[in-house]
Amino acid sequence: MTHSYWLDSAVHFSSSDFTSVKSFDVIIVGAGIAGLSTAYWLEKENPSIKIAIVDRAGLGRGASGRNAGFVTCGSAEHFSKLEKQFGLSQAIQIWKFSDANRELLKAEIIQGDSALVDFSQTGSCTVAASESDWQRYHRLSQTMLVAGLDVELIDEKYLSDRYGVRNFLGAIQYKNDGEIHPVKLLGLLKSKLRQTKFIFDSNVTELKRASHSWIVSTSKDTLSADKVIFCLNGYSDAVLPELKELVKPQRGQVIVTEPLKKFVQGPCYLTKHLCYFRQLPTGELLIGGFRNHDIEAENTKQDEVTPKIQAALKEFAHSYFQNTSGVKINYQWSGVMGFTSDGQMMIGEHPSQKGVYLMAGCSGHGMGLSFHAALTLVNNIKGKNVPAHLDIQRFRAQLL
Ligand SMILES: Cc1cc2nc3c(=O)[nH]c(=O)nc-3n(C[C@H](O)[C@H](O)[C@H](O)COP(=O)(O)OP(=O)(O)OC[C@H]3O[C@@H](n4cnc5c(N)ncnc54)[C@H](O)[C@@H]3O)c2cc1C
Repeated sequence: MTHSYWLDSAVHFSSSDFTSVKSFDVIIVGAGIAGLSTAYWLEKENPSIKIAIVDRAGLGRGASGRNAGFVTCGSAEHFSKLEKQFGLSQAIQIWKFSDANRELLKAEIIQGDSALVDFSQTGSCTVAASESDWQRYHRLSQTMLVAGLDVELIDEKYLSDRYGVRNFLGAIQYKNDGEIHPVKLLGLLKSKLRQTKFIFDSNVTELKRASHSWIVSTSKDTLSADKVIFCLNGYSDAVLPELKELVKPQRGQVIVTEPLKKFVQGPCYLTKHLCYFRQLPTGELLIGGFRNHDIEAENTKQDEVTPKIQAALKEFAHSYFQNTSGVKINYQWSGVMGFTSDGQMMIGEHPSQKGVYLMAGCSGHGMGLSFHAALTLVNNIKGKNVPAHLDIQRFRAQLL
């Protein structure tokens, strides 16, 4: 198994709680950002609710402990794609859902103590690699400004001075985005859960209906609950095979260099290579992406780094920045994302299994979506509608 910088640089929270209880109000399967956020909102709604979070490994062992820690609405290119796919007004709503995610995280979890989770709201950049991109970004920034999104065009010099990159023409900067230590965030979320029991190293193998409850079989035990919530993302078909074609796994790979003098202001996207980078508070440069260099091979949930993608990441690390040629690589890891066919999350009650809920398909944006998405799911359990573009009902036919 590959090992991430984040899991090494935060206190491990992966020991199970001792509990002889086998019956719960809610069982959440998956101890990533989606599962913990869901438990948070459930406890906030009902402080005496009995919850178990069950994971085959431990806290943050899926994508949540292996990502880049961008708390962003996505790249400016992402906005452009959303506009083409859904129209301007819906693209703005989708963007603002992520804005609200960050604000909810700040208000509910971070609560002014950014240092606890290494959070900083630096803004993010999407850099232009060609003259035609740069011209397009001029038009795109106008559309985003008119839409009320706080963007600014920045030039080559600013990119060089504040992001340390060369050979780009400029960028669109979105001012509100930020970055975080994803595993410290999970640790902080966990510390706020008073009633939830964590059951780790327990692979969930089967879900069965009993007369009044759901029976969840794991590699260690048999548990029961009134409601079961699956937060497995790229691994969703592990227990519900009907999700195999609906939430497809895609691997992402990352490298982290040795610590360097601070030179990158905040998270940055180069969408041409599906590439992104940032510098960590301790100086290491984190670079991920290049999935499109070997897209067939990366359509997998196998945790493994490959020579082809790693070579592309290293070449980028050594040649696009000032003063990084020959820099040492300290970490190489992979993680698995889950994608629905329209790229939007799937949230709500399973159409043919009453009391079984799903949150999946947060693609490469789970840190920018899941806390808000979990609130949406918990509100749905109380009877509120899920926004149409996130609603599981759009896959109803395939799930019946
Ligand atoms: C390389 C990479 C970089 C990324 N960068 C960013 C970023 O910068 N910003 C951003 O917003 N998003 C990013 N993402 C996406 C983000 O990490 C995910 O969207 C998010 O972490 C998904 O969270 P989750 O809780 O839904 O799933 P996961 O974190 O994957 O959690 C699923 C959990 O399910 C458990 N599990 C699996 N099968 C079973 C089973 N049968 N029984 C019990 N447990 C099981 C796993 O152990 C895992 O803990 C990135 C992803 C990758 C891979």
